[in-house]
Amino acid sequence: MFPVFSYVTFFFLLLSFSCFPARIIPGSLTELTVDRHNDTWRFFERFLDTGKGSHVSGMSELKKYFQRFGYLPVPNTNFTDVFDSRFETAVMMYQAKLSLPVSGKLDSKTINTIVSPRCGVSDTTPLEDVHETRHFAYFYGKPRWARVPPMTLTYSFSPEDMIESVNSSEMKSVFERAFSRWASVIPVNFTETEDFGSADIKIGFYSGDHGDGEPFDGVLGVLAHAFSPQNGRFHFDRAETWTVDFETEKSRVAVDLESVATHEIGHILGLAHSSVKEAVMYPSLSPRTKKVDLKRDDVDGVQALYGRNPNFKFSSLMESDISSNRAVGLQIRPSRWATTLVVVVAFKFFLWTR
Ligand SMILES: [Zn+2]
Ligand SMILES: [Zn+2]
Repeated sequence: MFPVFSYVTFFFLLLSFSCFPARIIPGSLTELTVDRHNDTWRFFERFLDTGKGSHVSGMSELKKYFQRFGYLPVPNTNFTDVFDSRFETAVMMYQAKLSLPVSGKLDSKTINTIVSPRCGVSDTTPLEDVHETRHFAYFYGKPRWARVPPMTLTYSFSPEDMIESVNSSEMKSVFERAFSRWASVIPVNFTETEDFGSADIKIGFYSGDHGDGEPFDGVLGVLAHAFSPQNGRFHFDRAETWTVDFETEKSRVAVDLESVATHEIGHILGLAHSSVKEAVMYPSLSPRTKKVDLKRDDVDGVQALYGRNPNFKFSSLMESDISSNRAVGLQIRPSRWATTLVVVVAFKFFLWTR
């Protein structure tokens, strides 16, 4: 995609973004289990316990995964199957961003997280100082919707690209609830419109390559993606077993539509991925998991962009969530990695807006 984007250019740009603000979060570490039904990324389990110096056939595919999600630059030539020092740095950046122990090795926690289904939006890693708090992040340039207050954004469902497994009234209810969670904390209203063409936010379900340069990959793997402000494209992978009720949907690969919708609205509003595992804006979500309540981290992030809804009270958030926002130090030195990611995200953003 970027034939002229050499590593020299990359590191030159890296230096020019050396002052990106950053924090590190605490976050209790929760064990994620490998979902045996995740066909899309199950291949990566073969790299368990590899580290710098390892040479395993197919590792170039894992490097593509890391490049896709913002941890490696676009290469000049093809990736090799060697676990080199650049890849070790990428693994450490990933571990720091996903709140995993930063070992630089593909240990079981790291592999389990890599193969977990997740959002297709690239990660940003604003980690600079080990003593700062890890938390929410923004897209490069901190884009937001610019409207005269009171701000109202319209959303609409695609007339063609919807799914049959969730009926129309359930679909409307899911999105009403998902939008209302964000609307309850910021002074922004969301209203549905029938006019898909003119809506600010355009919702649809798509398969494989659907024309925006971010093809979907079938069951699990990438679940959905949405674009930063003021784009409004809001896409779900049609191949998933989308559900609104785990009582009636027994599939082991079922994915909660409302949880993913709530997460993607965060992107629509301008939030990138958070390092806080409990936050709605954390990039991965296991199948058969519901995660719809905004956490303090999500609220702080979006209110810094749009201000506070006068009716919102922090006391409505759970005490355990508030206490999870305390800072802790990690034994890592991520200052250069942070700037690396900023550059990657800058190019990603450029791609989106082309
Ligand atoms: Zn996401
Ligand atoms: Zn798309």
